Amino acid sequence: MKSINPATGEVRRTFDELSDAELEQRLARAAETFPAWRRVPFAERSRLMAAAGALLVAEKEKLGRLLTLEMGKTLASAVAEVEKCASACRYYAEHAERHLADVDLSSGDLRAWVRHLPLGPVLAVMPWNFPFWQVFRFAAPALMAGNVGLLKHASNVPECALAIEDVFRRAGFPAGAFQTLLIGSKRVSQVIADGRVVAVTLTGSDAAGQQVAREAGEALKKVVLELGGSDPFVVMPSADLEQAVKTGVTARMINNGQSCIAAKRFVVHAAIYDRFVERYVERVKALRVGDPLLPETDVGPLSTEAGLRQVEQQVDDSVKAGARCLWGGRRIEGRGFFYAPTVLADIPPAAPAFREEVFGPVALLFRARDLDDAIRIANDTPYGLGSSVWTHDAAERARFVDEFEAGQTFVNAMVASDPRIPFGGVKRSGFGRELARLGILEFVNQKTVLVK
Ligand code: NAP
Repeated sequence: MKSINPATGEVRRTFDELSDAELEQRLARAAETFPAWRRVPFAERSRLMAAAGALLVAEKEKLGRLLTLEMGKTLASAVAEVEKCASACRYYAEHAERHLADVDLSSGDLRAWVRHLPLGPVLAVMPWNFPFWQVFRFAAPALMAGNVGLLKHASNVPECALAIEDVFRRAGFPAGAFQTLLIGSKRVSQVIADGRVVAVTLTGSDAAGQQVAREAGEALKKVVLELGGSDPFVVMPSADLEQAVKTGVTARMINNGQSCIAAKRFVVHAAIYDRFVERYVERVKALRVGDPLLPETDVGPLSTEAGLRQVEQQVDDSVKAGARCLWGGRRIEGRGFFYAPTVLADIPPAAPAFREEVFGPVALLFRARDLDDAIRIANDTPYGLGSSVWTHDAAERARFVDEFEAGQTFVNAMVASDPRIPFGGVKRSGFGRELARLGILEFVNQKTVLVK
């Protein structure tokens, strides 16, 4: 496994995959740790989780630098990501016990309640785009619930994967509570099929989700899927246009354009379309692309050369199919995996950008005739992760909230995850929820207890 700096293309470090014997050792350790870990009282689990959060805060600069060097996000956003992980640790350290308290169902002569019990070792298959956040938002609730975690991280972020294991270890968690498995995706099936693993969660592409869901189904194991998205960002005439444009650029270009909940399709009402486009392109032109370690950089490289090639192909093919490129539309020559921030308009249904998720700094613009047309365009995608609408009209807002086919609708705000609110999708964006109370309930046995 190689850790490659996407800003330069240089190989930083290489790692050997785990041998079969090493993998076996880790699975055995997880299974041995679980019976003891599930009995550790909440107060002690909370203490350890808070200690992990404190370590993240203390080391945010060092860890942030690692994220930037390994996957190319800007240093400021990498440091913010590490801080956000600390907030998830604190959130679950504080709230897990309350979220998992018994739910009393007693009435009349019925004495019954629901008790929440841990399941065992849970496998987490994670992507590189938020290499810390995706892992912590799984691990903090899963470990607080009394499960133990096994991380199969994306192959291009082995250093982050090992650093996360190290944070939990140094915070005082038992060695088997959270372990990194340095294995490629071909060996995931073997781990899912292993009798000691009780459940699996995957954050990644819908193709990977399909395979993991199939294998989890074969083994009859619980699965949570957080997959891709092509989120709509709808702007109506009553919106604060400047704010919508400004936030819209951030919402698309965040993480160098590689976020599942990035605003990918801008659906703008005809009455304000031209004004929106003019201002949007102006702001995209002003973005500074460059070394992600420098504070003045807005957009860094894509994380992998394969990712760069895919975006290049999707844009080229979309332009060939009739889309109009208003800005960008090319890779940036020289070292590293840089793609110019790009704006496409008039995208025909035959263009790849119309149906596929474009995982790079490429904004897609659509003109909507009216409210119904805006909802139709917004929902005309196989995905259903997030959705954002900009309007100050209460009746319009109600329509969008009810009719967007998405796991989340944000009004006059860009979609963002937060430990206090649930996160997840519908349609090809997956199923199940992470974060908040719904997230911690995914990997517990909600046991019904009845006493006579
Ligand atoms: P990916 O190729 O699906 O990889 C994600 C993880 O799955 C990696 O650990 C990868 O391992 C593994 N994997 C890939 N194919 C697999 C297979 N057939 N069986 C088992 N495991 C497999 O996704 P990516 O390109 O890294 O990440 C980008 C995608 O993730 C985008 O679609 C994005 O929208 C989505 N995403 C979704 C969310 C969400 O919360 N909904 C959040 C972030 C990202 P290897 O690296 O070893 O191949």
